[in-house]
Amino acid sequence: MAETKTATDAVGAREHPDKSQLAVEEAQAEAEATGTPKPGQRAEISNLDIVRHYFNAASDRLGLSDDLRVVFWAPYREVTVQIPIRLPDGKVHVFSGYRIQHNGARGPYKGGIRFHPEVDIDEVRALASLMTWKTAVAGVPYGGAKGGVNCPADKLDQTDVQRIARSFMDKVEKILGPTRDIAAPDINTNAQVMAWMMDEYGKLHGHTPAIVTGKPIALEGSYGREAATGRGCVYMFREAAPHLGLSPADTTFVVQGYGNVGSWAARIMQQLGAKMVGVSDASGAIRHDDGIDANALHDYITAGGRLTEFEAGGEIPAADLISIPCDVFIPAALGGMIHEGNAAEMRCKVILEGANSPTTPAADRILRDKDVYIIPDVMANAGGVVVSYFEWVQNLQHFRWDEREVNDKLGTIMRRAYREVSSRARDEGIDLREAAYLVGIERVVEAARTRGYV
Ligand code: NAD
Repeated sequence: MAETKTATDAVGAREHPDKSQLAVEEAQAEAEATGTPKPGQRAEISNLDIVRHYFNAASDRLGLSDDLRVVFWAPYREVTVQIPIRLPDGKVHVFSGYRIQHNGARGPYKGGIRFHPEVDIDEVRALASLMTWKTAVAGVPYGGAKGGVNCPADKLDQTDVQRIARSFMDKVEKILGPTRDIAAPDINTNAQVMAWMMDEYGKLHGHTPAIVTGKPIALEGSYGREAATGRGCVYMFREAAPHLGLSPADTTFVVQGYGNVGSWAARIMQQLGAKMVGVSDASGAIRHDDGIDANALHDYITAGGRLTEFEAGGEIPAADLISIPCDVFIPAALGGMIHEGNAAEMRCKVILEGANSPTTPAADRILRDKDVYIIPDVMANAGGVVVSYFEWVQNLQHFRWDEREVNDKLGTIMRRAYREVSSRARDEGIDLREAAYLVGIERVVEAARTRGYV
């Protein structure tokens, strides 16, 4: 039976028994020894500290009282579950799964599920909080949640990933529901994983497509959902570009993390005429100043190719990706990858944050001094949850919109969010990130007050 915790008793749940990856430990040991993360490493600051920093800065500006800060910072409900799975090495591996519901004032909880060895409860808390502000900034009627399992899904057989997905759903289904909490894909989880989770939930509750979004089209998924996060990023960039003197057709860009978000952002930027000059994934990085064909690279990786072997001669050390000269740098991998150890090396005009929490506060300050324009995660990558909202609406009505309708509606919401946040930033003389947090926090506080919750 799942263990349910409230905000006040949650801080002890830190076991993640299978998080013994040598690479993670080595990177942490080096960061600790030197104090500053190296260019290719992630920052030592946690995603939770990153989100907390931005939440506190916005709360200071809003004059939010200390007691209300506790209410709006702490998660409402946290569930930690054990997922024992016998893997092909013959051993039972015990993974930890988390579902954290941060704030539900504005609607049902909503957030993705990540399968990654570095998942821990603090990371899930950070991502759940970010979802609360993101859904508010986008103006979709959801609260914020997140889930994760600390398993190396990209190294496991699909049969084992399926067993983990079903086991996780079995153990958290009591707190989920189409009007309570709706899951979605994130790192190393995709439409197939959502299909398994929906199927597992359906065994207990009957066919319930609205329990997860990001499903395959064959199972009441929405047209346009898979591309939505990357497409939403590009909509935001198109709004910003004229004010920055940039024309999408003449833009060069670099993508860090060529997964769902990164590859869709790249392919849609390329449709506008922009040129990708550098790209990475977990296997390494490549650079070609004449341009890398985003569609061909996607097809090559989908067919099983290794990014670093795409077009001979382009491989560079992963740490060098960050310093490639370009107009737009798109982080679309893990959090904390732009930090004080590498921010000064960046040679871009814009950072378009496809990933969640890619930029630490220290890096943010360095980049502000360099006049780099940051379109932050809390607005830039909201396209995924916006089309998840469309998918949920379609599921509840058992109706389907065509892709054009989905994309048009997505564009309307992303443009509106950009304009609302950028005009707030202008009015108050602050950057987009701080303005987005102000807008998000204000909307959540207003909803909680109107409900009579605080
Ligand atoms: P994904 O698993 O499809 O892709 C992740 C990519 O990052 C993979 O190509 C992987 O190889 C690469 N990667 C991993 N470690 C890396 C490293 N050290 N250096 C470079 N690349 C590395 O995941 P995704 O769904 O595209 O999510 C990417 C980011 O976008 C995450 O931060 C996620 O939280 C965020 N995000 C995703 C969605 C969504 O709808 N999928 C929505 C909002 C935000």
